[in-house]
Amino acid sequence: MAIPNMQRRKSIPVNVGGIQVGGDAPVVVQSMTNTDTADIDETVKQIAELSDAGSELVRITVNNKEAAKAVPYIIEKLDKKNVEVPVIGDFHYNGHVLLTQFPDCAKALSKYRINPGNTGTRARDQNFCTIVEQAIKYDKPVRIGVNWGSLDQQLLAEKMDKNNALPEPRESKEVMMETIIESALRSAEMAQDVGLAKNRIIISCKMSGVQDLVDVYQRMGSVCDYPLHLGLTEAGMGMKGVVASSAALSILLQQGIGDTIRISLTPMPGGDRAEEVRVAQQILQSLGIRNFIPQVTACPGCGRTKSTYFQELADEIQGYIREMMPVWREVYPGVEDMHVAVMGCVVNGPGESKYADIGISLPGTFEEPKAPVYIDGKHSVTLQGDHIGKEFRGIMDTYIVNRFGVKKNGEKAPQN
Ligand code: SF4
Repeated sequence: MAIPNMQRRKSIPVNVGGIQVGGDAPVVVQSMTNTDTADIDETVKQIAELSDAGSELVRITVNNKEAAKAVPYIIEKLDKKNVEVPVIGDFHYNGHVLLTQFPDCAKALSKYRINPGNTGTRARDQNFCTIVEQAIKYDKPVRIGVNWGSLDQQLLAEKMDKNNALPEPRESKEVMMETIIESALRSAEMAQDVGLAKNRIIISCKMSGVQDLVDVYQRMGSVCDYPLHLGLTEAGMGMKGVVASSAALSILLQQGIGDTIRISLTPMPGGDRAEEVRVAQQILQSLGIRNFIPQVTACPGCGRTKSTYFQELADEIQGYIREMMPVWREVYPGVEDMHVAVMGCVVNGPGESKYADIGISLPGTFEEPKAPVYIDGKHSVTLQGDHIGKEFRGIMDTYIVNRFGVKKNGEKAPQN
């Protein structure tokens, strides 16, 4: 599904472990674990959870020897569990050492992320080139991921000095933006000089401010054709992180900029890491770029209904859909395009329900205790009594089987 009038920025397609990023591929959702990579079981568990939630690429930190040693075992365990998501290694400071000392780690990963500002101080370029040599040796793509918080300080200092020598120096922020872009492009050029093919390079320039991120990606998008990985770095916790990421990414995606996205939410202690995947999907789905999960439309409620039942039902349906999606995705292709409406009264209820594939309009205060159900725009049945939720779920299950349950060979898919 493409946004009408949206012109996607042209980029070179890059294959990351079988997933295409850039070119005409859909915008790819990715995420990152927060486990200690050396803890193989915990890391496998979280990668599987992120993949189940719909993450199409998962990044893990490879920060020390223990983590590098663990990587091939993690991939092996994922294979045994039939978790096929490509795993990316995130390297800083010692990536050149780890990738050369642990060839099984280098082989097992599907992509290496290199931060050119964090590859060392004195031998920065040399270390960067060593990582690129490993990528060439094992035929892996790389992401050159510049981050404003760890920008190449030497390059920044040089550019600041030059700027200060100008008769009318520009604002330091302007110089920083320019340095970020230059650092990424210079590194990409260096990787190609070492011998890495252009179609093995993805670029990111992450910032923590919404306007800065938009600015830097608009500039970057206009000067190169590498696929771009979008994300607000250190987006923050809860609503702040979700809103800031949505605001920044929506502007860029609407302009056709961005080939893969990651939402860097700070989870609550013990919180669900897969939330960042769901937020990324919801941004793409809300913009009409890609559908991942049936959309549940629910009214906000107002004085016309004192009951909280429609909120509970909307939540129950949403939870049920989320729980079933890993199975439905496989068995009922296209189910992600389904649209469900759960409405609080007859004012907008029937209208919105008719517009959805399946909709229910619950009775508002002083209305008859009846809940008409609409399927494909037509009134199908009216529910009442104490089991409306269960009955509505049953109707939805049957609808999914009938509409999406035919496999390519013409056989009916099994009912769950
Ligand atoms: S559908 Fe009814 S209850 Fe829901 S917001 Fe509209 S008027 Fe209020």
